[in-house]
Amino acid sequence: MTMHNKSFDTFQFAGMALDPIHVGTGGARLGRVDNTIVRDPVTKIPKIPGSSLAGVMRAYTAMKLEAEQPGRKINGKDKPYYPDCAGLGQPARDGAGGHCGQANCPVCTVFGFAKGVGSSGGFAGLAAFSDMQVLLFPVASQLGPQWITCPMALRQTDPDELSNLDDLPDQHVVYRKADKTANQLSLNLGWLFLPAKTDWQQMGDVVQKIANTLGVPGYIISRLSVVSDKLFTYIVNSNLEVRTSVAIDPATGAAEEGALFTYEALPRGTVLFWELTCRNPKHFKVDGREITAVRTPDEVKKVLTGNGSGSNHSPHDYLEHLGIGGMASRGMGRLRVLNADSDKSGKEGS
Ligand SMILES: [Zn+2]
Repeated sequence: MTMHNKSFDTFQFAGMALDPIHVGTGGARLGRVDNTIVRDPVTKIPKIPGSSLAGVMRAYTAMKLEAEQPGRKINGKDKPYYPDCAGLGQPARDGAGGHCGQANCPVCTVFGFAKGVGSSGGFAGLAAFSDMQVLLFPVASQLGPQWITCPMALRQTDPDELSNLDDLPDQHVVYRKADKTANQLSLNLGWLFLPAKTDWQQMGDVVQKIANTLGVPGYIISRLSVVSDKLFTYIVNSNLEVRTSVAIDPATGAAEEGALFTYEALPRGTVLFWELTCRNPKHFKVDGREITAVRTPDEVKKVLTGNGSGSNHSPHDYLEHLGIGGMASRGMGRLRVLNADSDKSGKEGS
């Protein structure tokens, strides 16, 4: 097979929380927190499910297309990109609404579409989103904010170069880059007080990777510390935001009596990592027809990132302004994508 016929490309992204982000489990209680966030069942580290990301990106893609090409009609009937192609896509009983399912619709081809009333089967979509994992986590220290990470969190970003990332020589210290602040012999992370070291050999590779490929800004890189996997899990879970809020009765707009509740969130400044797998449109047909909305895996990615012209808003820009997760009306959820036009990762289908 030639390069043009590869079955998929995978693109890596990093994004920084501009607000606390709450992607909830739907009412599960943990200790004193009423509304907990989703955690990885194995590592116990909070994450944002890929399905949540896919859901908001679908909505923002439809909004962007609606803003650029308002009043779309199909076969003479109104079929706006938004809200029809956003959301879960089941049409009403009279056939109104629902995904358009057209081979030239960027929303329905990239994100898939539901089976319509009386029509043929749905389509799974060309884009697949991984879960968004915590890559760098901000913690207060005597040196100002520090961002911590661990070998487990870093390994996911580079299956080739970092796959052999050693565990740290010492489990109970923080490793920092050797620079002018590195003569500090210890670092307090939250209320943990840990000895600091600079002799972890792979620190340089790690820094280069996250700075060059993922676009993590220099002010974060210069405040980077690496801890063991176990310590990372512990520090993240003991430094989440926990907020208390008052439930508002939607009927009266007044606070419900006794309705105080607490909820967790990833703090502002958290850097998340995720992958976008883009299938090759040439390998699929929609309703027996070739897909025309996008022609290559790179074009699938560009539906989300924009075409790089700078002036057009992309769905990623909507993510920065409208956010992800719950509590958006309480000023939560905005996320800035750090590497706006991600290059390919090493992974691609043959
Ligand atoms: Zn559509």
